[in-house]
Order: sequence, then structure tokens, then C-alpha cells
Amino acid sequence: MTSSVNSTATSAPAVPKILVVGGGYAGFYTAWKLEKTLRKGEAEITVVDPLPYMTYQPFLPEVAAGSIEARHSVVALRRHLKRSTVITAKVTGIDHAHKLATITPPVGEPWQQEYDQIVVTAGAVSRTFPIPGIADNAIGLKSIEEAVAIRDRLMSNFDKAALLPPGPERDRLLTVVVVGGGFAGIEVFAELRSLASALLGAYPQLTFDDTHFHLIEAMGRIMPEVSLATSEKVLAELAQRGAFVHLDTQVKGAVDGNVELSTGDVIPTDLIIWTAGVMANPQVVRGSDLPVEERGRIVTRPDLRVGTDEEIVEGAWAAGDVSAVPDLTGGGVGGFCVPNAQHAVRQGKLLAKNITAVLRGEAPRDYVHKNLGAVAGLGLGRGAFQKGKIGFTGPLAWLAHRGYHGLAMPTWERKLRVIGGWCNNLLLGRDLVNLQTVQNPRYVFEEFAARPRPAQPPVTPPAEPRGAGKEADKPEAVDAAKAAASR
Ligand SMILES: Cc1cc2nc3c(=O)[nH]c(=O)nc-3n(C[C@H](O)[C@H](O)[C@H](O)COP(=O)(O)OP(=O)(O)OC[C@H]3O[C@@H](n4cnc5c(N)ncnc54)[C@H](O)[C@@H]3O)c2cc1C
Repeated sequence: MTSSVNSTATSAPAVPKILVVGGGYAGFYTAWKLEKTLRKGEAEITVVDPLPYMTYQPFLPEVAAGSIEARHSVVALRRHLKRSTVITAKVTGIDHAHKLATITPPVGEPWQQEYDQIVVTAGAVSRTFPIPGIADNAIGLKSIEEAVAIRDRLMSNFDKAALLPPGPERDRLLTVVVVGGGFAGIEVFAELRSLASALLGAYPQLTFDDTHFHLIEAMGRIMPEVSLATSEKVLAELAQRGAFVHLDTQVKGAVDGNVELSTGDVIPTDLIIWTAGVMANPQVVRGSDLPVEERGRIVTRPDLRVGTDEEIVEGAWAAGDVSAVPDLTGGGVGGFCVPNAQHAVRQGKLLAKNITAVLRGEAPRDYVHKNLGAVAGLGLGRGAFQKGKIGFTGPLAWLAHRGYHGLAMPTWERKLRVIGGWCNNLLLGRDLVNLQTVQNPRYVFEEFAARPRPAQPPVTPPAEPRGAGKEADKPEAVDAAKAAASR
């Protein structure tokens, strides 16, 4: 690593520098709101994220099902953060004692960036366990790339299965296993069931009974965000649709395309989706000198400054899935806000206001947000809704899901693309295009591209027979030897 320090502070008074680590939900909203609340020249905002976009993760199940175009469910940072400097790179270290962050770009050497205020909003990653085969054979659902790859895998498997006679290999290709019965898991499971049913119309060789859907959940229920009664309705509806949830069951292995369960059952499959929990971004947390609690999250105060009631870490802020923010409504798990977008968005907005307040010598406010309830999309026309004691499933819940998320998508530019796409699908049907070859885009070019001919081996003149020098030296003899060598 180079020891270069990126600093523009040469003469006082310097403009305070705010460094936002992660431009996802919480980071994007922090920067977006800061751009609105800060006066011109009041502070410099820099957002660092390895991705040039914020991902609207609640849309990932619908992207996997082909109901939302992948690009529409992300928000380009450079287009919408006009007053911020966007750096497409990773933060790999935070030395808050010296207010220096290590930024590692995809090309070139890492450097150290000075800051006055740091906002850590680096989110969470899929949390897995050391189960044989999972790391190598399963796929998560935290990024747009994973959602697209899941959609394309299922569709490619339909293409392959349609060419096979009934039997174990065809069954394997048409079997989907999802691990984890939280919101994300149930949504992607139900959405893929809906996609598979839609695909069947295009494959006369395959029937509904040829497709197999299994979700594995270690606990005795699914979707802890909704009431038990609502979750049981979801279970019953999934079973009706040929999608089976195995409760109180654990995955023991996923080697050679076989998912082994704690019940002793084995499910052969070509698609294992892992959605069994998340953990605070370990790269950013472990690479920093900020305080961390036992579950690996950054210790955060209700006013979103890093630290505790007793000790404030001056100049450091955190929000979203990477942070342990006390839930002052008393509703959180273990006293902390649960990792969801509802909190991340609102914490990001308040964080911007609080930084602005602190820069102006005012007091920051505490974060208080009472859960709004939950909506889930479970395939076209199917959903689940829960607000307080009111819970139901069906088309109305699905409309609530689409209405809420369509409007919650940041920026009108993005809302219109998503809602426009839904309207198009209503008229034109679901977009069933499989772009799996994007993962190997040069395959046709490579197959037919002209290549230089391989280099010719050097010509070695035949050894001169002893005593026959004169004949072998003749030009015709040398030409004949060359021709023989080049054949
Ligand atoms: C499939 C799915 C469905 C969901 N549905 C819902 C829902 O319906 N309702 C709801 O409330 N919540 C939902 N959630 C949860 C919600 O999306 C998350 O809680 C929310 O995204 C958290 O926001 P965040 O800003 O903390 O993290 P993120 O939005 O994940 O953003 C973190 C950012 O940090 C960046 N980053 C990572 N590493 C680094 C690094 N080293 N340096 C710099 N940047 C880095 C990432 O690229 C990313 O852009 C869902 C999640 C998933 C996966």
C-alpha cells in the first residue's frame, strides 16, 4: 500500500470533509439529504462504494422473477448525487484515531483519505455457516447481479430440461431450493414459483408436476415480521401452489448438487439460494478502530453518533445494517433496530440533519421510528400484509406491496422506470428473456474470430551424410528439406 494521503487542507479555515462509506440505502440517503441541508461551501461530501449504484434490495425477488428490469431497481450514484464526489472503490481500513480511511480502488494503489466526519453505512453481507458445499454451490440474494443470475439459471435450466426425457437429471434441473424463511427467502421462493409457472406455457414438454420447490427453515415458523396467523396463511398458499416449506429443518450439506437435510432427506438440485440471515459488513467493521458489539455491528448511539451514552466517538457516525442503533420504541430485537430498509432510509435522513446540526454547533436528535408494518410480494397478484394486528394475504396485499415500494423507490426518475415497467408487463406480459450468455459475452466472437497461424518450427537442414557433402549442398536439396519441414 502507498502511504500517500489525499488531502486538500493546506490553509485554514478548511471546509469540513464528510466521508460516507457505502452508498446503499443509508449512505445514499445521508448524502442526498446532506446535499439539500448543507449550504454551498459548508462541507465537502465524498461517497465511497465499490458499486456505482445504490441497490433497492426489496426489488431483488421481482428482478429474479423477471417482473422488474434489473437496471431499474438500482439508482446511479453519480446521476443523483450531484454535489458529492463519488469514488467507485472499497474502504478497507478506518483509522479514526487519525481520521484517515484507506481506499482501495479496483485499479492502482490504495491511498489514505483524510476526513473530519465519517459516516459508516457499509451494510451487511449474507451470513453463512461452514456447511459443506454451501460456499461453493449456493448463491445469495443481496445484489442485483445475484438476482439476475438466479433468473437466468432457472430459465436456462428450463431450456435444458425440455430436451431431456423424464428422469433424475431433468428433475434436478427443475428443482429450486431456498434456505431461510425470512422475508427475503419467502419472497424469492414465491416469486420464482410464479416465474416457473409462467415459463411452463412456453415449454409444452414440461408440466407443473415436473417442477419442484423446497424452502428449508430451521425455526418452527416463517417471516417473523408478520403475525403467526398471517405466516400460516402464506405457508398454506405456497403449499397449494406446489411450493413446500420444511420447518424445523436444517441444511447439513450441499455437495455435488445434493442438498442434505437434518431429516435425512436429500434434494438433488441445480439452484440453491441462501437467504438465512445477514451480518454487518465484516471487511469494514474489522478494518476499523471503531467500537464493535458482540454481534459484529458498530456501537451506535440513538443520535447515530458512534459510541455509548457515556462515551461519544467524536466525528464518527453509523446507520443501517452495519450499526447497532438502540430502538427507543422498545420494539427492536435485543433492544436494537432490526436490519431493514425502513430503518436504513430514516436513519440516513436523520443522520444528514444531525451532522449538519453538529457542524453548526447545534445538538443532534435521537432516532425514533415505530415499525410501519410489512408488505411482501409473493408472485403476480399474491402478497402478504401486516400492520399491527391487521394481517392478510392475497391480491390486495400484493397491491399494497407494489404501491408502497413503487413510491418508496428513491427519485422520480427511478420510480417512473419501475412503475412504467409494471405497466408494460400488464399490457405485454412478463419479460421472459434469458440473458445467461452475458456471463460469457465473447463466446460467439471467440468461436469465429480469425487467429494468427501458429509460428512455424525452425527448419533444421538434414544432417550431411559422411563423405557425401557435394550432393547435400545443392540448392534443390535444401529447398526439398524446407518443404518437408513445413508440411
Ligand atoms: C431480498 C431482500 C429483500 C428485502 N426486502 C425488504 C423489505 O421489503 N423491507 C425492508 O424494510 N427491508 C428489506 N430488505 C432489507 C434492506 O434492503 C436492508 O436492510 C437495507 O438495504 C440496509 O441498508 P444499508 O444502507 O445498511 O445497506 P445496503 O443498502 O446494503 O448498502 C451498503 C452499501 O455499502 C457498500 N459497501 C460494501 N462494502 C463496502 C466497502 N468496503 N467500502 C465501501 N462501501 C461498501 C455496498 O456496495 C452497498 O452499496 C431486504 C433485503 C433483501 C436482501
